[in-house]
Amino acid sequence: MAQILNGNAIAKDVKDELIVKIKKWVEEGHRPPSLKCIIVGDDPASHTYVRNKVKAAKYCGIDAETIQFDSDITEEFLLNQINELNNSEDVDGILIQLPVPETINERRICNAVSPKKDVDGFHIINVGQLCLDMPTIVPATALGVVELLKRAKIETLGRDAVVIGRSKNVGMPIAMMLHTDKRHESGLGMDATVTICHRYTPRPKLEHYCRNADIIISATGIPKLVTADMVKPGAAVIDVGITRVTDSEGKNKLVGDIDYDEVVKVAGAITPVPGGVGPMTVAMLMSNTFQAAKTLRDKSIVLQ
Ligand code: ADP
Repeated sequence: MAQILNGNAIAKDVKDELIVKIKKWVEEGHRPPSLKCIIVGDDPASHTYVRNKVKAAKYCGIDAETIQFDSDITEEFLLNQINELNNSEDVDGILIQLPVPETINERRICNAVSPKKDVDGFHIINVGQLCLDMPTIVPATALGVVELLKRAKIETLGRDAVVIGRSKNVGMPIAMMLHTDKRHESGLGMDATVTICHRYTPRPKLEHYCRNADIIISATGIPKLVTADMVKPGAAVIDVGITRVTDSEGKNKLVGDIDYDEVVKVAGAITPVPGGVGPMTVAMLMSNTFQAAKTLRDKSIVLQ
């Protein structure tokens, strides 16, 4: 049976370490880090995510506030609100819970957040810095996966990894850190050989690449995409997918991309859903907020 990578426990370690660091920082005379979470519309899943983020922030000693807007606001209105937060000395981190309504251009919104306050790491400058192995703010889910691998002591150097999913916010930054050179400036590189699969990877090829992989990371939102016959015995399997399904008894539940009950018998390590990557995402968002606060206060750090 695989080692179960308990994301709740590891995320708690990350947050408890942050509590200590933030407390020390405040004792040194700084105000607590401050995070503003913007949410547009009334999507229940988005509201749950934001509630969890605000709760985690408060746990860590970060001042957090949700700013809620109706779904019919204009893009210009939202841009103005973001600009006010960008210019406020009282704000360190800004996140816009995605997706935004279709009337609003998501990329324009992501690029409107000051790169130094962009705790989601979605600004074009932060994405560019990540791709150049420069110090930057890394998208929290990708950082959560990397932190999980590190804390679980899963070796990546020289090993074969498959990332399934190539979205710019999740799959791409995971693949980016996995394949890059640890000796480079950011220090985030994991030196694996990475294969990126996506919706146009033919199923037999996907199976082939997965079977040869030491590490499989799936971020597609397709339940049971990865089955036990695709997993090399002893491989580490990280499930980034979160899909809401209704089970045979009519109950709602969350499932990942991995056929957990079968893969757990073959893999060397596996993350459950829920309780795997999800809590790590929230914990790393807190880490990003503290990083942003420190960077904003320390005039000697030049990010761009
Ligand atoms: P997220 O932002 O959480 O990564 P997206 O829906 O943006 O989610 O991305 C889903 C990813 O999953 C896409 O990169 C897509 O190419 C990939 N994908 C979808 N179907 C398959 C499939 N059958 N096999 C492999 N990858 C797939």
